[in-house]
Amino acid sequence: MMLEKLKSRLAQISDLENAAAVLDWDQQTHMPPGGANARAEQRATLATLSHELFTAAETGSLLEQAEREREGAAAESDAAALLRVTRRDYDRAIKLPADLVAEITRTRALAQEVWTRARPANDYASFAPWLEKTIELTRRAAACWGYRDRLYDALLDQYEPGTTTSDVEAMFNELKPGLVSLVRAIVERGTPVDDAVLHREYDVARQREFSERLVRALGYDFTHGRQDTAAHPFCTSFSRDDVRITTRFDLHFISQALLASVHEAGHALYEQGCPPEFERTPLRGGASMGVHESQSRLWENLVGRSQGFWQHFFPALRETFPNPLADTDAERFWRALCKVTPSAIRVEADEVTYNLHILLRFDLENDLLEGRLSAADAPAAWNARMAEYLGLTPPDDTHGILQDIHWSLGIMGYFPTYSIGNLLAAQLWEKANQDMPELPAQIARGEFAPLLGWLREKIHRHGRKYLPGELIQRATGEPLQSRSYLRYLTEKYSELYQL
Ligand code: ZN
Repeated sequence: MMLEKLKSRLAQISDLENAAAVLDWDQQTHMPPGGANARAEQRATLATLSHELFTAAETGSLLEQAEREREGAAAESDAAALLRVTRRDYDRAIKLPADLVAEITRTRALAQEVWTRARPANDYASFAPWLEKTIELTRRAAACWGYRDRLYDALLDQYEPGTTTSDVEAMFNELKPGLVSLVRAIVERGTPVDDAVLHREYDVARQREFSERLVRALGYDFTHGRQDTAAHPFCTSFSRDDVRITTRFDLHFISQALLASVHEAGHALYEQGCPPEFERTPLRGGASMGVHESQSRLWENLVGRSQGFWQHFFPALRETFPNPLADTDAERFWRALCKVTPSAIRVEADEVTYNLHILLRFDLENDLLEGRLSAADAPAAWNARMAEYLGLTPPDDTHGILQDIHWSLGIMGYFPTYSIGNLLAAQLWEKANQDMPELPAQIARGEFAPLLGWLREKIHRHGRKYLPGELIQRATGEPLQSRSYLRYLTEKYSELYQL
């Protein structure tokens, strides 16, 4: 009885949030620039309404009564999971006082504006006070949320519930030596890979067509989705029946659009695979940001950057682009896609160097938040770590500490979820290959339904029902680990670079 009342309230909140997501999608894809001010008001109103409805005393009391009513019910049931997840979200949401939320929101808008100008102008000095302010507000928020051991635990908890700072440290301690030495070996004695073919001229309309063909083949459902272009590709969903992806096209960079589409389709397949009974409840969506990212990276890297995938798709690709691909074959195209180049920019990083960019940000966020580093000294610390991890120095702050949008949005504690996604993708891939030895052959024939079915069963159908740690344990039989990922990278790149 109470559960039904609670659910109808949660359904309204979910409707408000999904309506806000439609406005956000429109802003990033079709809205004319002049619409920005009105849109900001509309989004703020919807965000305030859903926050007020969720944090209202009425919600708390419905939740409490529903919990009492369900006491002793099976912990495995959807109803019990709904109450657990709602309780976790609710307790977290009511911990921040309204004036702090308002100050964070205000600071975010201003800091983002300063950052938008500071980045292209290489003007870190103008951004530094805003980073300082963001750190101070983040510390205050973490104190409200509470943490047992490290301040960063309170931040991680929003994106990766159940994961602690020391878990992330242990993960990077395992990864770092292997990654640094693999990068060094590739740079020093790898057989060079030529990726010039990717930068020839590729008609954009045909890129669009081909990218749609790829994601449709993977299982992305266009009757419940669509693909548009955006400056920063993303996936968003308003229900399991309307899950949208975006990509971006560059006339002289074929792989950017194709792999961005496959990446976002990986996120979308997760959302499209959520069970209908989780609609309009907090159980819809992904278990965590890291688990979500594992789905996009699995399809992008383990599948989309595999040799078999291009054995299958290259003939069609060459038919679509006969001129730029006239002198290339599947093998050379695949090698070009996997080229490893240490670079200053995270979003351009290859599979091998990517996590070192994340480690750097994780180090710096902890040093800044725990007071070992000041905002003024942060660029030097950034550059020192770039030299240590990747053997290069960024030419300026535009290509260094100013490159990411996250800190200007007040987002700290998020970066590790990218690495968790990479590790988990490889761990799931290894397990899927044990369960289905035919998998590589299927991919080389363009058959993706068995892999999608496996992911639906192990991950997608659970929505947010389990904490990420539980979900990973159930899906793979062990906790998150880095061995599968290091094994995958070492095998693939030793062969590719003939180390
Ligand atoms: Zn992603």
